[in-house]
Amino acid sequence: MEPPICCITSRCANEITTLLSPPSPHQLQEYYQKIFSSRHCNDITVKHDDQLGKGVYAVKDFKEDQLVLKDQMLVGNQHSFNKIDCFVCSFCFRFIGSIEIQIGRRLYLEELRANKSHDCDVGSSSKSSKNCHEMDSSDEEESTWKCSSGSSKTKVPLPEGVVELLMNGQFRLPYSEKFSLPQAVPCHGGCGEAYYCSMSCAEADWESSHSLLCTGESSDPRRKEALLKFVKHANETNDIFLLAAKVISSTILRYRKLKANYPAEKEKYDASCVSDHYNISLLMEAWRPISMGYKKRWWDCIALPDDIDSSDEASFRMQIKELAFESLQLLKEGIFVQECEPLFSLEIYGHIIGMFELNNLDLVVASPVEDYFLYINDMSDPDKEEAEKITQPILDALGEDYSTCCEGTAFFPLQSCLNHSCCPNAKAFKRDEDRDGQAIIIALRSISKGEEITISYVDEDLPFEERQASLADYGFRCRCPKCIEEEP
Ligand SMILES: [Zn+2]
Ligand SMILES: [Zn+2]
Ligand SMILES: [Zn+2]
Repeated sequence: MEPPICCITSRCANEITTLLSPPSPHQLQEYYQKIFSSRHCNDITVKHDDQLGKGVYAVKDFKEDQLVLKDQMLVGNQHSFNKIDCFVCSFCFRFIGSIEIQIGRRLYLEELRANKSHDCDVGSSSKSSKNCHEMDSSDEEESTWKCSSGSSKTKVPLPEGVVELLMNGQFRLPYSEKFSLPQAVPCHGGCGEAYYCSMSCAEADWESSHSLLCTGESSDPRRKEALLKFVKHANETNDIFLLAAKVISSTILRYRKLKANYPAEKEKYDASCVSDHYNISLLMEAWRPISMGYKKRWWDCIALPDDIDSSDEASFRMQIKELAFESLQLLKEGIFVQECEPLFSLEIYGHIIGMFELNNLDLVVASPVEDYFLYINDMSDPDKEEAEKITQPILDALGEDYSTCCEGTAFFPLQSCLNHSCCPNAKAFKRDEDRDGQAIIIALRSISKGEEITISYVDEDLPFEERQASLADYGFRCRCPKCIEEEP
């Protein structure tokens, strides 16, 4: 197989080297200081150590169970396969609509998918591609998804028309008003793909990345078609491409903002860097938040799947590179901006995707549907009996996994700085009040001022060898006190 040739990588070699050079300790300090001050957070700090790299340290004492940090994501994306199960805000990932809409929409989409799975390739709209996941993907999530659909035989469908009544609000479930959700606000660009919990989330998403990625009516038809192809390709292969597209769009939009303010802030930047096409120092500044996260190229760092023989490793990595190249060409047709050309190189694209591969970046939001059914279950008779006359058929229609969390991938600037330990002093944990996609880190025991804050990237109760094997995927060998003690 011929390796894919990316012209931009050779044409913009110098700019790409500049973008990929690691931030200096000073730039690092400055960047995180800005985050801390904008969030009014004085409890923790990020320090850089030449040997250990970045780490998060306590600036005050924390008690057990105390909140250590709340981290707003820089970019995030709900997994494609999860979009059937959960209807969430495209920006903050809060559940939206109502309990009835969550349930009705899921049953409706499951039905649609069951009917369409026979002629999967027909139709190129993104809606049909979302419901066609029986493609040739060996993705781990994809297979869990297949398992859950396998249990559909035990489901008992609702009488005709009930799903529609649930979706349009004409059929109210008992006590659902206790679990009210924000009303869904559709994207004003008219794409019909993005929905929000509020106008402010809609605007924030539009400004941060969606204005470039929206496939609504107002977009240029040629670009719109390319973008739809890009989304379909990502849904069928790897939905991390959608996240990479958000990273590139948000960098372009930050660049434009910086450029608009440029005359006013001219002194800050080196005038000698201004070329005819673009200003590399402005692009560097726009890229800064991302430069804090990436480490390696995707095709170099991705763990070799178990079913691939090590003698096929080189061709496996080449195929991954090829796949990224295919995706990038579609994205380029959709949103290319000459001034930000280096961002469209395969080299940069590979590093962005690698960033999501190598960081601990799960996005999870618990479902209110689960809370609702638990509430009904905890009621006492005769009210419970009365309510269950209505809710039991709904539960039977939904089947065993009646409620699913919102799941996705996101980049959290502070959480990604937390180092691993097999005897961590903190953990990612959602409290009852945490209903959106922010990362919450809670102290597992008391932490003293000056101590490093650590979380476990793997199940810390696994035996030594298994822990080390899982951690090898993150590219390091753990030397925490527990590992030193247990090392044979
Ligand atoms: Zn929101
Ligand atoms: Zn839109
Ligand atoms: Zn360890």
